[in-house]
Amino acid sequence: MGEQLSRRKFLAAGSAAGAAATAAIRVVEKPALLGGKPVRTEPFPSWPVMDATEEKALLEVLRSGKWFRGYGKNVDRFEEAYARMTGARYCLATANGTSALFISLNALGVAPGDEVIVPPYTFVATINVVLLMHAIPIFVDTDPETFQIDARKIEAAITDRTTAIIPVHIGGSAADLDTILAIARKHKLPVIEDACQAHLGEWRGKKLGTLGDTGCFSFQASKNLNSGEGGAILTSSEDIVERCYTFHNNGRSRRVTSYNFSYQSSGHNLRMTEFQAALLMAQMTRLEQQARTRDQNGQYLTSLLREIPGIEPARTYEGCTRNAYHLYMLRYRKEHFAGLPRAKFLKALRAEGIPASDGYRPLNREPFIKQTLSSRAFRAVCPPERLRQWEERNQCPENDRLCEEAVWFTQNMLLGTRRDMEQIAEAIRKIQAHASELAEV
Ligand SMILES: *Cc1c(COP(=O)(O)O)cnc(C)c1O
Repeated sequence: MGEQLSRRKFLAAGSAAGAAATAAIRVVEKPALLGGKPVRTEPFPSWPVMDATEEKALLEVLRSGKWFRGYGKNVDRFEEAYARMTGARYCLATANGTSALFISLNALGVAPGDEVIVPPYTFVATINVVLLMHAIPIFVDTDPETFQIDARKIEAAITDRTTAIIPVHIGGSAADLDTILAIARKHKLPVIEDACQAHLGEWRGKKLGTLGDTGCFSFQASKNLNSGEGGAILTSSEDIVERCYTFHNNGRSRRVTSYNFSYQSSGHNLRMTEFQAALLMAQMTRLEQQARTRDQNGQYLTSLLREIPGIEPARTYEGCTRNAYHLYMLRYRKEHFAGLPRAKFLKALRAEGIPASDGYRPLNREPFIKQTLSSRAFRAVCPPERLRQWEERNQCPENDRLCEEAVWFTQNMLLGTRRDMEQIAEAIRKIQAHASELAEV
């Protein structure tokens, strides 16, 4: 009873001091995995967020009968609105984030046998689009403090075959763009920002995705801006946006009608539908507020977790003026948890009502990549000798270790209250206090 009361008082205070005191009370309780009471039983905020705004927008498109961008105005309107929101000069909406990257590589002239610099800590689509071009992904190791590509190691990976750099703003935090853009300028290489996780993230006050030659976004269901599937390319170049448009429209330039049968280039159909665009316009009414909430909660969570030995939240570079927090990423050092393996830590955390995952595996070691590079389609541009050199260069030891220690929380968990953040920290402290017992079960 006394404990209940003081606990409530501390929570009402909502301060870090209150949280620490609450945690101190809680650690005496058994972990949920060992039969104790979980720290939390309510779910975290659900995703997606929607209301009548989305219903109305979708019904309007449905009833109009204009479902294709050539008939309606929603995709045009979305492109204008997203460009305005990000401060970009041009925006092209696409079918998804993968196609935004694929279109960019085509527009920037990446050719078979070229080398494209990529990070190993990313979603597989970043690599697949390079392979789709019959180009060769060159992996540059991860900066283990930030989880981003280690920009200090990029220059050593550049050869006379390098034709593009794809930095990924992983988790919604920024790659070191000052360094990357300077190297790119020096070597006259285009930069394709993979900002698929970084909606409204910023570098020195400018929106991520607006600093490279193109910036690519995903609106897939898990992303911070969601239309089920969807994507966009930002650029400040009229020439690039027109080439992107043509490529994404079966090689047909801007004035699309279904009866435009003249072709500027080869291409694909990678267009966004009117439904996706209408949904995005509705979702965008909440995007800025959600980004602010995630940023505040993310920073607060970091202030709490930094105090726990063995928990190392991903650091952001000084130039990153806003983290979009698609993922909250940290390193878990089991030495500080009586050797409790990460998988067991995650299980214990989930039992406390805190969903968490272990994230990406080392992508550069995926057998399918070597298989693709040695396939018949690649033989002309990647003969056995070149493949051997690629394998020799393909070492990312920092990333290998990071993949063994990473822990992720998803973006929706940062859409709640400060109390939610305090409970995450509380659950981790509780597990730490009982780590040796947990290690035995
Ligand atoms: C989601 C994602 C993509 C691909 O986007 P889709 O819309 O799923 O095709 C590419 N890169 C990164 C880093 C992503 O997170």
